[in-house]
Amino acid sequence: MNDRIEALILRVDPYKEADGLLQVLTKEHGKMTILAKGILKGSSKNAASVQPITLSQMMIDIKEPISLLHSASIMDFFRVIKENITHLAVASLIAEIALQVSTSHQPDDYLYEITKESLSACSHYPPILVGCLYVSLILKEMGLSPMVDGCVVCDDTKVSAISVSEGGFVCLRCAKNVTSKSYDANFSRLFRYTVKAELQHLGTLAKQGEFTLELLSVFVDFFKDYTSIPLKSWEFLRKL
Ligand SMILES: [Zn+2]
Repeated sequence: MNDRIEALILRVDPYKEADGLLQVLTKEHGKMTILAKGILKGSSKNAASVQPITLSQMMIDIKEPISLLHSASIMDFFRVIKENITHLAVASLIAEIALQVSTSHQPDDYLYEITKESLSACSHYPPILVGCLYVSLILKEMGLSPMVDGCVVCDDTKVSAISVSEGGFVCLRCAKNVTSKSYDANFSRLFRYTVKAELQHLGTLAKQGEFTLELLSVFVDFFKDYTSIPLKSWEFLRKL
């Protein structure tokens, strides 16, 4: 049977001699694995349309656990991402997280939309900012959003540090008793704004200051601490 799907290709692994196994996220079917035959041959007509970090329309045969690709055409190649190493590293982080938190053949409209919109946003906004907001939105969706309205231990509104293990801001007094790291007021303000923001606030967030790798690393630490999911793409990105 032939099914038409719109798929975000997030990862491609070589398979057998010239085939590829695509890990994709779709609106209708959640995460899927698709066998793309012959895409590693120079003559393959589908090769360009099944690169990682690409939005494509596909005709496939839906099967579990592995569907079969018939044809693919590009809807969005995310060209800007592929031309810049930082963009590509952030997009790879987004792709890895999306694959880790999604479930095979279980549709998740929200996850699909924020992943697609975030990849698209990397062309218009600083990629580190997009990465910070994406990880924050994932944490929020999992019910793991950092607490940023006061000290997570005693509710004091004067906060001075961030504690990943306690789950948010801590005040000067409580910071002495828990594992935490202090940051300047500007850093803390950007952290709080990001936690409160939704995807449509990207433009406003971008005007608030510079989003640094250090800020992204705090969000990634929250994600790693609560999910225990290792992120290979982060190891690459943090070294840039
Ligand atoms: Zn406190």
